[in-house]
Amino acid sequence: MSIKHRLDLDAINLRTYASKDWEKRILESYKTIVNDQNREIRLKLQLCKRCFQGGKIAGVGFTQYVCGICSATLVFHNTAVPELCEDCSKTNDLCIQCAAHVDNKMIKEIK
Ligand SMILES: [Zn+2]
Ligand SMILES: [Zn+2]
Repeated sequence: MSIKHRLDLDAINLRTYASKDWEKRILESYKTIVNDQNREIRLKLQLCKRCFQGGKIAGVGFTQYVCGICSATLVFHNTAVPELCEDCSKTNDLCIQCAAHVDNKMIKEIK
């Protein structure tokens, strides 16, 4: 004989509250992305919307990497190494992390 797990009104309403809260947070971050609310900070960090919003999970420790455009060898302060060096990302308006265009535009040439 098993005892069935029962949900009372409070438990159900708590779940509804959690679901509503989730929806609210999703809509808020959606708005932040669509309106590009932190654009100035984002561009200062030379990041595309996705990398700015998501952020990579990084391990601690200086890590060597090679820029995907100019092949310069660089050192980054953690293991989530960028795809590009600062110069190449700025010159081409690309995200330093993933090399996407910072405004999601297709580019015709690499400078
Ligand atoms: Zn470079
Ligand atoms: Zn990116």
